[in-house]
Amino acid sequence: MELDFSYENMFSYEKRIGQSFKTRTGKASAIMGDMPSSQVRIAHMKKKEGEAMSAVAASTANLTRRNFLKASIAVAGGTWLGTAIGCSSGDSLSGEGSSSQAEEQVFNGVCKPNCFHGCQLKVHVREGKVVKTSAAPYPNPEFNRICLRGLSHVTNIYDPDRVQYPLKRVGERGANEWERISWEDAIAEIAEKFTSYREEFGDQAVMKCAVSGNYGSINGGFTSKFFSSINASTMAPSLDLSNAIGLNRVVGWAGTWMGNDPRDLKNAKNIFIWGNNITDAQIHEWHFVADAIEAGSNVIVVDPIFTHMAAKAQKFVPIRPGADAALILSMMQVVIEEDLIDREFMQKYTVAPFLVRDDTGMFLRMSDVGVQPAEGPVNLLTGEPTKIDPAVVWDGVAGASASSAECAAPEIEGEFTVEGVACHTAYSLLKAEASQYPPDVAEGITEVPAATIVELAHLAADGPVTHRVGWGPQAYDNGVHPHHAGAALAAITGQMCEPGKIYGCADINGFTGFDATLSAPATPVTSPTISNLIMPEVMETGTYMGEDIVIKALWVYQGNPLCTFVDSNAKKKMFDKFEFIVTVDSMLTDTARYSDMVLPCAQFFEYEDIVGSGNNNHVVHCDKAIDPPFEAKPDTEIMRMLAEKMGMADLFPESDSEWLQKYVDTEAAAALGISYDALKEKKAIRWAPDPLVRWTDKKFLTPSGRMEFYVEAPTPMDYYGQQIDVNREHLPRFFPPTEAWPENPLHEKYPFVLLSERPRFRVHGQWFNNRILRELDPEPTVKINPADAAAKGIKTGDHVECYNDRGHAVAMAVLNEAVRPGTLVYPKSWQVHQHLAGGWSELSSSSHDPVAVNQSYMDELCDIRAWEGAE
Ligand code: SF4
Repeated sequence: MELDFSYENMFSYEKRIGQSFKTRTGKASAIMGDMPSSQVRIAHMKKKEGEAMSAVAASTANLTRRNFLKASIAVAGGTWLGTAIGCSSGDSLSGEGSSSQAEEQVFNGVCKPNCFHGCQLKVHVREGKVVKTSAAPYPNPEFNRICLRGLSHVTNIYDPDRVQYPLKRVGERGANEWERISWEDAIAEIAEKFTSYREEFGDQAVMKCAVSGNYGSINGGFTSKFFSSINASTMAPSLDLSNAIGLNRVVGWAGTWMGNDPRDLKNAKNIFIWGNNITDAQIHEWHFVADAIEAGSNVIVVDPIFTHMAAKAQKFVPIRPGADAALILSMMQVVIEEDLIDREFMQKYTVAPFLVRDDTGMFLRMSDVGVQPAEGPVNLLTGEPTKIDPAVVWDGVAGASASSAECAAPEIEGEFTVEGVACHTAYSLLKAEASQYPPDVAEGITEVPAATIVELAHLAADGPVTHRVGWGPQAYDNGVHPHHAGAALAAITGQMCEPGKIYGCADINGFTGFDATLSAPATPVTSPTISNLIMPEVMETGTYMGEDIVIKALWVYQGNPLCTFVDSNAKKKMFDKFEFIVTVDSMLTDTARYSDMVLPCAQFFEYEDIVGSGNNNHVVHCDKAIDPPFEAKPDTEIMRMLAEKMGMADLFPESDSEWLQKYVDTEAAAALGISYDALKEKKAIRWAPDPLVRWTDKKFLTPSGRMEFYVEAPTPMDYYGQQIDVNREHLPRFFPPTEAWPENPLHEKYPFVLLSERPRFRVHGQWFNNRILRELDPEPTVKINPADAAAKGIKTGDHVECYNDRGHAVAMAVLNEAVRPGTLVYPKSWQVHQHLAGGWSELSSSSHDPVAVNQSYMDELCDIRAWEGAE
């Protein structure tokens, strides 16, 4: 089916999706709540848009204050397209402006936000302009997908607010007042500042910060090589990682978010979906869930919110926010109590039988009982041979200790003393932890009825079972532990290593056989990588890890940290400490607006690239379909210009195509039939087994090669000198979220937990300005349960202020029964200038778990009241 890009068609596509939901599940479609009429919302959006547009138009055209007012008047008069930046020449950039009679060329592209699919797209071009995007065929048509975001790229490319020229700040930082400068002047100034900062303060004085927007091979590769070659420091995004950390603790680190091919869902008898609104956040995957339901799978959604995904499930389990670890430990307690464990799986493939020393919490090793370690393969990093020192287990038949490498049927439970050292098996320790959460106790924590917990435990042991993990439970300071617990539950029930059995995420780990050395610097980077969560403190104190540090300049690319990072008011203060901030972007995001210079970059279809990730497990060639409009440049060209100006003209000796060819043409790629030339011809080549089912060889990437639900030596994700309670981290535990918990005294002052929702219309901050999608979703909204709204005197359509001690955000209230009482649901990533006041990220906190060092964007309390400011 080819999906046409047209306004009318997009609505009919949405209708078709709704119908498809209904037909396939026999249930009603979306739980949209009591939305205000679209006319009301669109009218409001247009008013706001005019305000935003006027500021951009004035600044980017280097207008005087008087001209600014004229531009504003023009906007108010409804001629905003004409006053848009870059349209002053009268050269409308609308793709629709091209002649329908003109010959159409079709190029291959990939939708490159990080919604995790990487839909392959046909990019239709007439007269040098993209006129529409449509779904392109993968070798396996089950992966052919496109959503409203993918269909509406054309409006991003030709958005009248697109940054067209290098911009230099002329007013206060954040005032959005700019002058146009030439690329030569921009690069010269950046080079001069970077050079002087490094000479005066050291290499670390220049810092880079990227997230994953506009991901691909070449942008990141070039930028990374440039900054590592000048030994720059890095601001780490530290986000959305706790689920991966919890999972990878148990299975080993084979990639960040690991799971099975989505087509494997239908092999599961029971599918648990933990905090993942697939129908909105990973739209491309919903049909695989629907296929599984049609094939007879039983879908259970655990979520605080009655999401669209929950509406499609056979069972919805509403849970108190931040309580998932307690629920899973309780399910584990039932499974153990009722002997629903898989004893043989545990013996062979997990650390269940390993003896853990009572005195140190470490595994008892054969070297502890006098057997010298054997030499293993040479560690390529150290050049030294590795040591093979197996853990000790208890051989119940022999009644003696034995090597885990040799004992076929070790005891998994019990306490033993070996050579005078008292030990418990790892499973006994896990069992003791779970025993603290019988269902009646867990009910008090989770607000899930005890009988439901027992039922869930039975379902979790009735395989094949797939646990599909989202990004909700990980968004609290306790966010590692639900996933550590979930992977442990899968381990003790043996629900791994076969089709339909997995505890995992949407697997977005791409092909790893490319030549990563192309991005490597000649000498190792010695400047630090510092989490954004502690950067405000570092910039305030000028110290890091007990040492003085000076950081003067920041280069932001592929991201919008002032919007998508937590605690934006603290981040702004941190930004204020930088002397010079450059942002590379195609739009004036919150971050771009708070920068000193903005460099316009090319968008997805304006340069050649190779994309090797996405949960369809293909490598895809992206053609260059059009030239970047106006003065926008690919990141590669920007990096080349800067390198040359800073005396490193030979840093990028290859053309972009030559670089891509070297990057792709490796032995590992060739073994899978992947080469640059083959990709240019075929466009998409699968790299993974078909279908990808993880761990079928039962060899895990942990030090022991087993599922390590007992973590011997937990380490933090980023180390900045913080203290870690190692004893807490050996096993999955429940401890309450730091802020968003009823026992927190702050709860009296701020009684609502603010749940940041991943919306259907944006991926993080991307598409924030998309004109088509904003017809559907014109302005920030906050959803509230009708009972809470009645208590506050709030009606749908009212503008309300969510607030706490960190900041505020004004949004339109939407009463919605799907929202759990005591919570507010706030779709993420609206920009500050799209709010009447404040911004959603102001409400979140920099508080984080010292092990995960991850943004806890739902671990936040606030209150809500009618907005009394200007409309
Ligand atoms: S946003 Fe995601 S689902 Fe939508 S077209 Fe792009 S890659 Fe596909």
